[in-house]
Amino acid sequence: MSINLDTLRESIRGTVTGPDDDGYDAARAVRNGMIDKRPAVIVRVASAGDVMTAVRFAADSDLSVAVRGGAHSVPGFGTADDALVVDLSAMRGVRVDPMTHTARVEGGATWGDMNAATYPFGLATTGGIISTTGVGGLTLGGGIGYLARGHGLSLDNVVAADVVTADGSFHVASEKNDPDLFWAIRGGGGNFGVVTSFEFRLHPVKDIYGGPMFFELDKAGDVLRFYREFIQDAPEQLGVFPAYQIAPPLPFIPEDRHGEPFIAMVACWAGDLEAGEKALKPIQDIAPRVAEMVGPMPYPVLNSAFDALVPPGLHHYWKANFVKELTDDAIAAHLEHGPKLPAVNSTMHIYPINGACHRVAPDATAFAHRDATFATVIAGMWPPDQVDDATGTAWVRDYYDATAPYSEAGGYTNFAAEDDQDRVRANYGPSYDRLREIKIKLDPGNLFRHNQNIVP
Ligand SMILES: Cc1cc2nc3c(=O)[nH]c(=O)nc-3n(C[C@H](O)[C@H](O)[C@H](O)COP(=O)(O)OP(=O)(O)OC[C@H]3O[C@@H](n4cnc5c(N)ncnc54)[C@H](O)[C@@H]3O)c2cc1C
Repeated sequence: MSINLDTLRESIRGTVTGPDDDGYDAARAVRNGMIDKRPAVIVRVASAGDVMTAVRFAADSDLSVAVRGGAHSVPGFGTADDALVVDLSAMRGVRVDPMTHTARVEGGATWGDMNAATYPFGLATTGGIISTTGVGGLTLGGGIGYLARGHGLSLDNVVAADVVTADGSFHVASEKNDPDLFWAIRGGGGNFGVVTSFEFRLHPVKDIYGGPMFFELDKAGDVLRFYREFIQDAPEQLGVFPAYQIAPPLPFIPEDRHGEPFIAMVACWAGDLEAGEKALKPIQDIAPRVAEMVGPMPYPVLNSAFDALVPPGLHHYWKANFVKELTDDAIAAHLEHGPKLPAVNSTMHIYPINGACHRVAPDATAFAHRDATFATVIAGMWPPDQVDDATGTAWVRDYYDATAPYSEAGGYTNFAAEDDQDRVRANYGPSYDRLREIKIKLDPGNLFRHNQNIVP
């Protein structure tokens, strides 16, 4: 079927870019430079009305819809061959209500937009650890970040959302209104529609005490064994995770150690600053630190501290698992594979899932893995002119194969790779069947299929 973009242009306030238009290559690009898809049209929407029009146009033209917020999806779900892309990157407004401690956030905002807007009010909510990541994709799949132990996942803080579903209709979803849709979008990813705005609950967080600490590789076993015990009942104001990381050329790291792999701990104390110094002490005492950049800082500064490690265009390939118990055998696998990082941009993190994340019932939202203790991600990222794709992906796959026997079958959908589609059921876990029922009602034609897809 041929599509007439002129008709679409007449009814869209934003920008419509087709394959014959200038700017098509820039408009179709996503952050993962390995993704090279050719959509039928990219609609850079300016409003919820534009989204409704674009979705209806796609349905009428027999096009699938790919939704793009911050464009960070590792499998590149924010674009697809022959699809209509709803690009939300022009819809990034954030309005903070200091009276109710809530923020209304447009669907294309990044965590940098969100934190910059809430910081002056001394407020924040759980978001990702990199400021360029989109609020949309991260929240709809879960939302793991520094504040999660104290305040839950990002999706636990969603109070309401405006959603355009596959028939182009507009829904205000909340516990009271459209409760099935509200349940499904909190963990079911982009399967159910386009979220044009979220309302988030905010918490009193302004300046934090934290930063990264680097330890010698031969202390990695001590660090991981310490972490698995310590994090179980550490104060919930503390977000912290271990990371394998090659030392970037930064002034706080001795110059002769740049380019070497280390085990790091990255911490964020979101409480009284003086208490933070005390809270981090046990971590600093695990072993002598080779380098650290720890101190009081605005929360948005920590949230953007590692942005330079993940510029647009890197090649990405990631794998993930939930873990209930970090066993000695699992740690042995980390000790073997972690240090083999292919590039300074690559990393492996073990995020804690406990505290406030565990206080939400497994069926209260579609994010069902409330019995996991950790979410592990092996994040392969490399500049294509320095590391070839076969080497980068082999590191991720070998590492994943070695740790999978000590992990749950499911992993965090937001960290999954394109070739993880056969794990969709395990990734959604016990929520899968209800998600599928809701998908059948709201999107029987699977218009929204470029995601960890629940096939109706
Ligand atoms: C560098 C980097 C750092 C990351 N750090 C974290 C982290 O700290 N914590 C964490 O939990 N995850 C993290 N992630 C994973 C992240 O949650 C996912 O990549 C997520 O999909 C990114 O969302 P996005 O909006 O930027 O991506 P996009 O590629 O724009 O969107 C991905 C998918 O999400 C859906 N989507 C996005 N926005 C909307 C919307 N408004 N309405 C409907 N559907 C939408 C669509 O299905 C879309 O295809 C990170 C990823 C990267 C690459």
